[in-house]
Amino acid sequence: MNKITCVVIGGGYAGIHAIKSIQKNVGRKKSLRIILIDPNPYHIRKVLLFKPVVGKEGIKIPWKRIFPSGVEIIQGSVTSINKEEKTIIFQNGKGEEKLIFNTVVIAVGSSFHRDNSNNGGITLSSPDNAEYIYKKWNENLKHALNATSPDEKEKLMTVTIIGAGISGIETSAALAEQMKNTAEDIGLNPKKINVFLINSKKSLFMEGPTKLGEKLEDRLFQLGVKVLHDTRAKQEIDGIVELDCGQQIPSGLCIWTTGLVPNPILSTWNIPLTTDGRIFVDNSYRVVEMEGMYSIGDCARIVDPRTGKEDQMTCKEATIQARRLGRIMKADILYKRTPVHKTPLTTYCFGLGEKQGLVWVNLPKVNIYLSGKIGYWIRKITWDIASLVK
Ligand SMILES: Cc1cc2nc3c(=O)[nH]c(=O)nc-3n(C[C@H](O)[C@H](O)[C@H](O)COP(=O)(O)OP(=O)(O)OC[C@H]3O[C@@H](n4cnc5c(N)ncnc54)[C@H](O)[C@@H]3O)c2cc1C
Repeated sequence: MNKITCVVIGGGYAGIHAIKSIQKNVGRKKSLRIILIDPNPYHIRKVLLFKPVVGKEGIKIPWKRIFPSGVEIIQGSVTSINKEEKTIIFQNGKGEEKLIFNTVVIAVGSSFHRDNSNNGGITLSSPDNAEYIYKKWNENLKHALNATSPDEKEKLMTVTIIGAGISGIETSAALAEQMKNTAEDIGLNPKKINVFLINSKKSLFMEGPTKLGEKLEDRLFQLGVKVLHDTRAKQEIDGIVELDCGQQIPSGLCIWTTGLVPNPILSTWNIPLTTDGRIFVDNSYRVVEMEGMYSIGDCARIVDPRTGKEDQMTCKEATIQARRLGRIMKADILYKRTPVHKTPLTTYCFGLGEKQGLVWVNLPKVNIYLSGKIGYWIRKITWDIASLVK
């Protein structure tokens, strides 16, 4: 039996679930060598980036914990793919190396969108940035204790978060709660903590029903987050956040959480891309005109052929695609009919501060909401399933 070498590029949510699914489906039918290439020695739990913003919780899981055996790990960054030779070139600590594959799964994800990298603040885009944010607001509160000017004190006790998607909502909730706790612990008035959330839309989370946006807004209000709707931030300069309406918010810290774009490296790989930089795949995640290549997760444009609906860049969508991918690859190898993509049930989960959450499930005729502790409990289960944490 010929051994199949399958290389998975990227160990985010799509990559790790793809490996499990390929092992389960293809590994039972064929002799399989499976290789994961990722620049990091660990999986990053990206959806939990707001956790190290408010505490010491780690969000990196070493590969050995996720894949104790059966997966070769290469720490490196893929720089190109040659479709004719079926080779991958990657950079590691030693320089450039080449790898031959039979099949490859491109799951290199996304990075933070920013109109202009010179517009101040910091993006919530990596564990390092999250740790910087944690240190910064803690330092600011300590300086606020000794600030003599009331304006300076107010500024040091203010954080502005720009972008009110899930990440902005969860981060502002966690920060408002934790900054107040810390303020109280060190002798500042917690009521003077200001957390602003800048939302470019008319209400929160317009992807869902009005009631969902209202529930989110109520919870943020309880936590003391001030949401500014229909407003865009232009830039942060010297601790002043400038809004398009002319308003200025003096802020000790400004955090950008303004959405995702497909990994920019893809534009150098000579593969078919959409105008917004995602990989063109067919209904079964095969990269168009590239034999033996598949792509899933944030970096791929994936469409339900029955409805024409595109999947969003979310962790849930990435993991569901990955679980289907193993069955697709098995069918391709056995020359059987392949499963095709199907839009998953619409569900969203939000962590809203310590031990509080909100889950929305959109069933055909009814919307289900679960909030409070049960909402958080479900949220936590989804976080753990997504990162294969037992
Ligand atoms: C702050 C934040 C909060 C979010 N919150 C939510 C949420 O609450 N719910 C939700 O559903 N979604 C959320 N998302 C979106 C979610 O994180 C993504 O949809 C999800 O991570 C997509 O998974 P992925 O595997 O496609 O990509 P990623 O998780 O981006 O993983 C890509 C992997 O590819 C690797 N890689 C990159 N370049 C190379 C290369 N050249 N060679 C080799 N490997 C490479 C990276 O190291 C990484 O491991 C959030 C995103 C952010 C940034």
